[in-house]
Amino acid sequence: MGRVFVAGSINMDVVATAERHPRVGETVAGEAVLYFPGGKGANQAVASAKLGVPTTLVGRLGTDAFGQELRTFLAAQGVDLAFVKDTADTHSGTAIITLANADNTIVVVPGANARVDADDVAAPVLGKGDVAVSQFEIPLPTIAAFFQRARAAGATTVLNPAPAKKADAALLDLVDILILNETELGYLTGTELRDRDAPARFAEAAGSLAQGKIVCVTLGKRGVLALVEGQSILVPGRAVKAVDTTGAGDCFVGALASQLAIDKPLRDALAYANVAASICVQRMGAAPSMPTAKEVEDTLS
Ligand code: ADP
Repeated sequence: MGRVFVAGSINMDVVATAERHPRVGETVAGEAVLYFPGGKGANQAVASAKLGVPTTLVGRLGTDAFGQELRTFLAAQGVDLAFVKDTADTHSGTAIITLANADNTIVVVPGANARVDADDVAAPVLGKGDVAVSQFEIPLPTIAAFFQRARAAGATTVLNPAPAKKADAALLDLVDILILNETELGYLTGTELRDRDAPARFAEAAGSLAQGKIVCVTLGKRGVLALVEGQSILVPGRAVKAVDTTGAGDCFVGALASQLAIDKPLRDALAYANVAASICVQRMGAAPSMPTAKEVEDTLS
């Protein structure tokens, strides 16, 4: 049985709620301040660890109070933090969010996440059967270094190119499984895609990215479309009452990685991750809404 290694971001999301957003230069009195552990790397590691698969997070925190709090939270979720370093001269990744009338403004400051480097990702020893996962919230050359090492060790590489940004072909060549949503697929392929487009259109766009790799396009409530050696597999979304879709994509990625690490065939892993993500959307928050293996298995049976 393999292990999941996630090299990625760790953030504290600080949310202030108010009746309305301030105008530039204005101060308004707010209602509440909420703190949510986040960052795509942390969310995906929590999703995998909560499903009972050994999961190591590789990343950085500042030496501030948020760093301590994030460490405590992630450890309590069962994530191995042996390769999460403290960085003295910067802060932990922080998102400052104002929420008023269901509209939000977000400023994300990467802080320590921007310092994750090739030495950091060279520290853990990966082996055959392990799964190496990353996203676009740490420097791209670091991801390339991580995937090179993972490939050399016989591990499977999984990239979630989110948030969307330009990636060179050399990085994409190091990827075995690409997992992205409609927006990221549109961005990476330069295609205009809409939610209601037919799956065949997504399959066509995904095909232009495939180049020997597996491409999984998450389609929100419509489920997921995977392109494997030119063949498309559509796993329909589950009809559930979604209350908060934050972290759904992260749940899907972490869950899929966890199942591949325990040698599940791809089709089964896709079905499992689709169920896991459908449970996640029925609860508030990102990391705290990741399901346990028992919850997924009870739903599958
Ligand atoms: P992202 O959060 O990256 O935009 P998606 O919205 O595509 O990702 O969601 C990821 C996965 O979560 C989907 O492939 C699906 O399995 C599940 N999912 C998302 N929204 C819903 C929903 N409303 N109902 C059921 N499953 C959902």
